[in-house]
Amino acid sequence: MSGILEYKCPCCGGAIRFDSATQKMKCPYCDTEFDVDTLRQFDEERMEEDSDPSWQEDSVAQGGDELDGEQEGLVTYVCESCGGEIVAERNMAATSCPYCGNSVIVAKQLSGMLRPDLVIPFKLDKKAAEDRLREHLKGKILLPSLFKSENRIKEVRGVYAPFWLYDCDAQADIRCRATRLNSWRQGDYMYTETQHYLVARSGDIGFDKVPADGSLKLDDALMDSLEPYDYTDAVDFQTAYLAGYFADKYDQSAQDCAPRANDRIRMSTQNAFLDTIIGYATCVPEHMNIQIKQGKIRYALLPVWLLNTVYKGQIYTFAMNGQTGKFIGNLPADKGKAVAIAGGVFAAATLLAWLALGFLL
Ligand SMILES: [Zn+2]
Ligand SMILES: [Zn+2]
Repeated sequence: MSGILEYKCPCCGGAIRFDSATQKMKCPYCDTEFDVDTLRQFDEERMEEDSDPSWQEDSVAQGGDELDGEQEGLVTYVCESCGGEIVAERNMAATSCPYCGNSVIVAKQLSGMLRPDLVIPFKLDKKAAEDRLREHLKGKILLPSLFKSENRIKEVRGVYAPFWLYDCDAQADIRCRATRLNSWRQGDYMYTETQHYLVARSGDIGFDKVPADGSLKLDDALMDSLEPYDYTDAVDFQTAYLAGYFADKYDQSAQDCAPRANDRIRMSTQNAFLDTIIGYATCVPEHMNIQIKQGKIRYALLPVWLLNTVYKGQIYTFAMNGQTGKFIGNLPADKGKAVAIAGGVFAAATLLAWLALGFLL
């Protein structure tokens, strides 16, 4: 038992990876392709062999071929292909060997209780992520020229981010005070009639796969902005999909993340019901009771391209949804350029608004 999975090409022995363009496993050396399903059996056998039913969080650092981590929180693995030592964070589930480039998958981080239910395989490749970054920088007039002109991409990583998906039913009871206004003129007087209404709404609403990322390392807001993912592409998890990518196991449990999901569900429920109250001049919620009945929770790995660039000693992180191509990230602003452009008061005001809103695209 080695605890590490590596996928080898049966034709040439090369390391095979999941290819997002063909949605198949592909050997980059001899171009042989396999369906991911072909590897299912191999996968299942290896996982059985490696799974440890009495797994505990603290046991990560022991057993298998792992050596003692030299630093706290780090674990060392031995690459099966080249024998190189791979030092990784303890949550690491998939990475590539820094010496030979082979993909390395840590079976125990993905089996038993930690086995994901679903995975959305990568649809877009590294080149697409780099192209989207270039596009993202285009036309941003306040961006320092230096940031644009030089290739500052320090690191591009295809990461399967751990997500919890919550199914639930919400029951809502909402009461609002609403008004309708009616104005007319009579002689020298303007009359306004205000009609007061008590508007009530109640009912049930169902939610399917509300996502919340289960990784402390990944910024919650950044991950939320990458949505939506299309879950019709989600398939049963198989480790082969991770070959060639990075993955960490979750470090926030489904329970830890539930409050975030519940807030979203509550907000969506509230908006869905309030949206049905139309035709009033004002509407002020007076009573709102939303009960959430949690259903199934699934553990999923969702594809994210993370791009890091360094500018003036600061790291800027961009992220792209690896399925849809939705791209987000913060950009530095050139203060000198901002002053030059903001000629008049009006222009300055527009610009400030643009800075506040447009820059966090
Ligand atoms: Zn091959
Ligand atoms: Zn290696």
